[in-house]
Formats: sequence, C-alpha cells, structure tokens
Amino acid sequence: MRAASYSSETLEPIKQKKIDTLAEEAGGFERLLHVIEAVWVADEAVEAIGIGSPGPLNPHTGYLLAPPNNPEWHNFPLAPKISEYFKVKAYLDNDANLAGLAEYRYGAGKGHHDVLYLTVSTGVGGGVVIADRLLQGYHGLAAELGHSIVEPNGEICSCGFAGHLEAYSSGTAIVKYVCAELEAGTKSSMKRTDDITARSIAVAANAGDALALKAYQRAGEYLGIAVASFLHTFDPSIVIFGGGVSQVGALLFEPFQASLQKRVFHPRYLEGVTFTQASLGDDAGLLGALALARMMSKK
Ligand SMILES: [Zn+2]
Repeated sequence: MRAASYSSETLEPIKQKKIDTLAEEAGGFERLLHVIEAVWVADEAVEAIGIGSPGPLNPHTGYLLAPPNNPEWHNFPLAPKISEYFKVKAYLDNDANLAGLAEYRYGAGKGHHDVLYLTVSTGVGGGVVIADRLLQGYHGLAAELGHSIVEPNGEICSCGFAGHLEAYSSGTAIVKYVCAELEAGTKSSMKRTDDITARSIAVAANAGDALALKAYQRAGEYLGIAVASFLHTFDPSIVIFGGGVSQVGALLFEPFQASLQKRVFHPRYLEGVTFTQASLGDDAGLLGALALARMMSKK
C-alpha cells in the first residue's frame, strides 16, 4: 500500500508512505487508514482523496466488489468508509484505469485527447480516455481489455473464462506456455527445473532459444489481434504500454506490429498513431489517484 499527499497548486508530493499490503491478512482497512494518516497534512485543507485498487469494483458507488484473495474486501464500501472517517470526499477506481488516467494527464499521453493504455505484466489491464474523459461505463466496469476474447474456446484465463487476451499475452501466460511445451518435450535451453519467469524467457529468447522466441511471438501475435479491435473500437491517437512484460522491446513488439498491421481493416486507423512506453513507472498508481480526485471533485 502506498499513499501520498499532493499540493493542489504545484501538484508536487508533500508526504509519501509505503507499507506492506499483506493482501491475504485481516486488518487491511485499518492498515489503509494508517497509511493515509501518515501522509495527512494537518495544517492544509485536504480537498479530496483518490484511491486505486485492483478490481472488480464500482467507481460510481466506491464499493469493492470481489477482489481475489481476501473475503474482507468483498462488497466493501471502501470510498464511503474512507470519506466518513476523514470527513472529505473520496473516489475509487481500478489500478489500470488510474494508470491510464495518470499517463494521459501527467505522462506519455500528455497533450492527447484519446488515449489507450495497456499494462502487460502478470495480467493484462486497460485504461481508456476518450475525448478527455476516463471511460468508466454504466457499471463502472469498462476497459477490462485483458478479458477481451481473442480465441473462442481458447486457453483458460485467470478469471475462469476461455480465450481472453490475458491468457495469451500476460507474463503468466508466457510462462505457462513455455512450461507446457517443455512438459511436452520441446527442445530448449530452458529446463523444467529452472525457475522460469517471463524475464528469464526473454533472456533465453535474446540468446536465440527457439521456444522462448516462439513464446513472445505468440504473445505479440495475440496482442496485435486485440489491439486491432481496440483501435476499431476507440480510435486513439496514442497507445501506451506499461507493465514489466512490455519492457522486453522487439521480442514482443515486432510480432505485435506485424499482427496489428495485417488486422486493422483500414490503414487510416494507424495514421499518425503513436505507440510508446508508459513514462510514470511505479508512480502511475498514485498519480492516477491524484488525477481521479481532481477530475471528480471538479464535477
Ligand atoms: Zn479473463
């Protein structure tokens, strides 16, 4: 858990605090109150609190719905409780939406009005800004781009459904694919007994390992399929990639671009569109919560 207070004039951080999340242990809400209190600026009027959390959640009501791992948070009125405790307005949205909002306001997407943000790490998440507005949706569940279907009846996703982008292009999916191929006897410099991670597969791929190369090729291919659909749907002027897996460079993005180019149904979708890396790194969550609080309290 991280918290920070920001000056509304300079937008510079005033105080910051980080503690272990201990996601599966009880007492999470008390830890959260504690970390907010640690960055509270007593002699300044606090205007609003923005909160980012893993989904699914409802940004309209500020309730967490059913985050995995811990029943404490199921159907939990997080923003209302924070608001009641600190006597100030509190707003909630999911991590990926907020990272997208942060990149749009303060990062790689600055100056753009239509932004598609994708984080590719252990999972795949999305955040979409259209005409300078964060896309939230009727239930507040919009832009779950990692759960877009790229292969009907395909691999099972972390959510339990088949054929989602996350089941092909996430770090978890890349590792799973390599382990299954090794299990089936495919030759490789990687061994089943090795501690195989998306990063170690990237190292093997850069050293010319055919299986490792194929794993990233496959991830990039499916990412291209999905992003073609996202361009058809949202028509952004910039596509921003965040998350650890997107740091591997050409291994992922060469097959991605090849796949994307052959799948957009009109070349116009790609004209003048920037494809780039996120620029805010680990601060994207905090800055997204700041952007959310500023956006919502101006309403
Ligand atoms: Zn899914």
